[in-house]
Amino acid sequence: MMFTAVLIAVLIGNVGSVLAASLMLRIKDEKLHRYLKNINAFAGGTLLGAAFIGMLPKAIQITGYTISYYVLGGILFFFLLEKIMLWRMCSEEHCERREKASALMLMVGDTFHNCLDGVTIAAAFMYSQSFGIVMAFSIFAHELPQEIGDVGVMVHSGFSKRKAIMYNVYSGLAAIVGAVLALYAGSYTQHALPFILAFSAAGLLYIALADLIPELHHKANLSESVLQLALLLLGIGVIILSVV
Ligand SMILES: [Zn+2]
Repeated sequence: MMFTAVLIAVLIGNVGSVLAASLMLRIKDEKLHRYLKNINAFAGGTLLGAAFIGMLPKAIQITGYTISYYVLGGILFFFLLEKIMLWRMCSEEHCERREKASALMLMVGDTFHNCLDGVTIAAAFMYSQSFGIVMAFSIFAHELPQEIGDVGVMVHSGFSKRKAIMYNVYSGLAAIVGAVLALYAGSYTQHALPFILAFSAAGLLYIALADLIPELHHKANLSESVLQLALLLLGIGVIILSVV
C-alpha cells in the first residue's frame, strides 16, 4: 500500500516534472525566466519547511539532539557531491559552470540527485501520508526549473529536444531506486528512520539554501522581492498544513 503511494508520488515528482518542463519550454524566454523564479521561491519554502517542520523535529524526537551531527555530515556530503558532479541548478543562460559541465556529467549528477529525491519522498511517507503527498509536489516544484535547465543544456550541446526529454525521463526513474532503498532500510530496521530523515533534511536544506535561494538574488527589485517572500512563506505554510 505504502509502496504504491510512494511509487506514484515519485513518478509525479521526478518524471511528471520532466514532462511538465517539456511543455513549459514553449513559453517565451523572458516570461519563462520570471515563472521559474517564482516557482523557485515557492519550492525553496516547501523544502525549508519540510526540513525544519517535518523531518528534523521527528528525527530529534526519536533519537535526540545528536542527530544534528548527521545533518551536518549530510550537508558536507552534498557539498562534496556538488563539487564532483557540478550538478547545480542554474536557470541563467550564461552559467559558467553549466557550460563547463558536459551534458553527460549533468545526466550522471541529475540521476544521482533524482535517486536522493526518491529517498526523501519515501522518508516523508514513512512520516505520514499527507506529508508524503505534499513532499511529492515539493519535489515536482524544485525539479521543474531544474529539468528545464537540463533539457536546455542538452539541446544546446547537440541533442534533439525529444532525446533530451527522454534521457531526463530515464534519469527521473532513478528516483524509484532511491525510494525502494529507503523503504527497504525503513522496514528492515526501525532505527534507520531518524537517519533517513536527517539525511533527507540535509539534502533539502542544501538544495534550498545553496541552489534555489541564490537564484532569487540576481536582481533586487522591491515588488519582486515581496512576491518572492510571500511565495517562500506560502511554501512553508503548505508544509505546516501537511504535518499537523
Ligand atoms: Zn530534486
